[in-house]
Amino acid sequence: MASHNLAQIKIDDLEIIGYSVAGEETVVAMPQLDVCFDVGKAPDQIISINHILLTHGHMDHAAGIAYYLSQRNFCGQSAGTILAPKNLLGSIRDVIDAWTRLDGNQIPANLVGVKAGDEYQIKPNLFARVFPTKHTKGSVGYTVVERRKKLKPEYTKLGGPQIVELKKQGVEIDYPLEIPIVTYLGDTQYVDFSQLEYIVNSKILIAECTFYEGEHTTRAEAGKHMHIDEFAGLLDKLNNEHTIITHTTQRTPMREIRKILKESLPKDMYDKVVLFMDNRYRR
Ligand SMILES: [Zn+2]
Ligand SMILES: [Zn+2]
Repeated sequence: MASHNLAQIKIDDLEIIGYSVAGEETVVAMPQLDVCFDVGKAPDQIISINHILLTHGHMDHAAGIAYYLSQRNFCGQSAGTILAPKNLLGSIRDVIDAWTRLDGNQIPANLVGVKAGDEYQIKPNLFARVFPTKHTKGSVGYTVVERRKKLKPEYTKLGGPQIVELKKQGVEIDYPLEIPIVTYLGDTQYVDFSQLEYIVNSKILIAECTFYEGEHTTRAEAGKHMHIDEFAGLLDKLNNEHTIITHTTQRTPMREIRKILKESLPKDMYDKVVLFMDNRYRR
């Protein structure tokens, strides 16, 4: 039986599965892209995904690191790759070493330290781009970008043999096209993310919005999280087709969150927004 009752969303051909409640657990996987943003307590459903993209070291986001790696080994899979802020790598190694001693078995791992501005190749045409967030020292978010080659407009009317001939002659018939598929902000206080064009134009935005009630603005500030008032202002500057809200607080009931969300966002914006934890199926 699966360890978790996960939320599940499907956007076109992309599945988004996971669990995200502030202070409890956050793990958001996109199996078709072979990435999992944060690892939470490592639910069974994400073990076979090859890349964990960790945003920061808080326990509710990172607790499952060793279990994820060890389960892969136990099931005969290759070592998992974990992208994590560079400044956390030493501590992550310590955790893995401690578990290796406790458990008595080696835990294979491919650890990659990242900082804002880095890019890591996930698949031949898929890259994880790293940007800074404002939550803990070195905390980051990720955008998964697809790079394609597209035929230049002047050649689109040509037939196959003509294209082959031009290629033989060494003519550059196509140009690089970059498609930001998904941006995952992780935990962060408000930052003007509209300064990064690939975030503005990501097809899917997965964003934290932790607090909703008026008196929770100070909590948002103290914990370096976003409050709905700031989040509404941010969404206004972005251009995403779909927005998925994660990391909702347990202090406000879900129906109340839904109500405040509806009141805080203009209708066209509200229609594009999904509360991640509203999408769980009962077992
Ligand atoms: Zn968190
Ligand atoms: Zn955090």
